[in-house]
Amino acid sequence: MTKSFTAVAQHKVAQHQLGIFGGSPLFDAYVPIVRPEVPPECHEDCSRQFLDVLGSGLLTNGRSVQLFEEIAAERLGVAECVAVSNCTAGLMLTLRCLGLQEGEVILPSFTFFASGHAAVWNGLTPVLVDCERDTFNLDPQKVREAITRETVAILAVHIFGNPAAAEELEAIAKQHGIKLIFDAAHGFGAAIHGKPVGGSGDAEVFSLSPTKLLVAGEGGIVATNNIELAQRLRLARNYGDGGSYDCEVMGLNARMTEFQAVLGMAGVKGIEERSAKRELIANAYVSTLGSEPGVSFQRVRPGYRSSRKDLGILFDEKEFGVSRDFLRAALEKENVQTRKYFDPPLHRQKLYRECRTGDLRNTEWICQRILNPPVYTALGEEKAEEIAQRILLIRDNVQAKGYPSWWHSGAA
Ligand SMILES: *Cc1c(COP(=O)(O)O)cnc(C)c1O
Repeated sequence: MTKSFTAVAQHKVAQHQLGIFGGSPLFDAYVPIVRPEVPPECHEDCSRQFLDVLGSGLLTNGRSVQLFEEIAAERLGVAECVAVSNCTAGLMLTLRCLGLQEGEVILPSFTFFASGHAAVWNGLTPVLVDCERDTFNLDPQKVREAITRETVAILAVHIFGNPAAAEELEAIAKQHGIKLIFDAAHGFGAAIHGKPVGGSGDAEVFSLSPTKLLVAGEGGIVATNNIELAQRLRLARNYGDGGSYDCEVMGLNARMTEFQAVLGMAGVKGIEERSAKRELIANAYVSTLGSEPGVSFQRVRPGYRSSRKDLGILFDEKEFGVSRDFLRAALEKENVQTRKYFDPPLHRQKLYRECRTGDLRNTEWICQRILNPPVYTALGEEKAEEIAQRILLIRDNVQAKGYPSWWHSGAA
């Protein structure tokens, strides 16, 4: 980011009156939190291939799915990729095919609820454990403390595409003789010491739904170096039927269609470039906001690379001077959509309220402060910088004039 651009952006935002005080929004068109990552150059290619699929007479589990699995396995550097209908089904089937049908599964409370659902659908008992305050990922020390004789698996999550502490978790799983599965829904494009995320633990399960980095409309990939597990999963995604019409596993219909595989293959091609663009967007937020009091960012360990599926910014109300919830409302009036993933965390949702938990102070700390701004590739660095500048302008105005009268809940 050059200095002159910063100056231009500052000048531009300073000219506006803020949306919260009745001014016109920063952007004329609404800026959503996410836009599906299907670049325009894919559209024509995919249309042609969709027609080929239609002409082939094989709409599901055909040649494209097989090819996509090979491409994904090569890209991730794993022995096998099994394509499935979505990540949730992939997680459900992975736990099932690893023979996990009773006992406790340790997972973070700070995650999307599908991670927990997959365990519960298999009759497993979720145990909700705290995350690290800086990386937002499952805390290995707290995992150790939560292990009991009932523990059968650890389900870790690469939160926002920031790789979890894979090596440490592998050591814990090995020591206790339990399974380790990664919810890698956000993980495509992430790497640990130059190696793509995907080859750790017993399996890693990716999502290809529209909010993720690799988009197939809907879809999932189970990556594993366990060839037997992959074979079981291929049966399990097809009801459990290996062709004898006498099922081997209690499966699901979790097949990927040929159309999804076509989109998935197109998406893999540009993943490096998109991930690099997201890094620049993340840097634009970091360089504008990073040194402000009360603002911090999710930490990525040295040598790790986040896919930047999302960017997590923490705003401490006392130190920053404006509450996270007010910032969200104020940005909405600037036509900027934000999220607060994953607030509420699992242990505060009704389906998970009864779960055994450890001390969840970091989860609570993050949930009070987290704000996710738009980071999708097509946003570009300049808009990210403008959004970040506007956040500071909102703060400065609120500090000078107080909260506007329409805002009550955050005014205390
Ligand atoms: C999106 C998501 C899932 C579910 O993925 P689907 O493909 O939509 O089933 C699971 N876990 C996490 C952390 C997610 O963000």
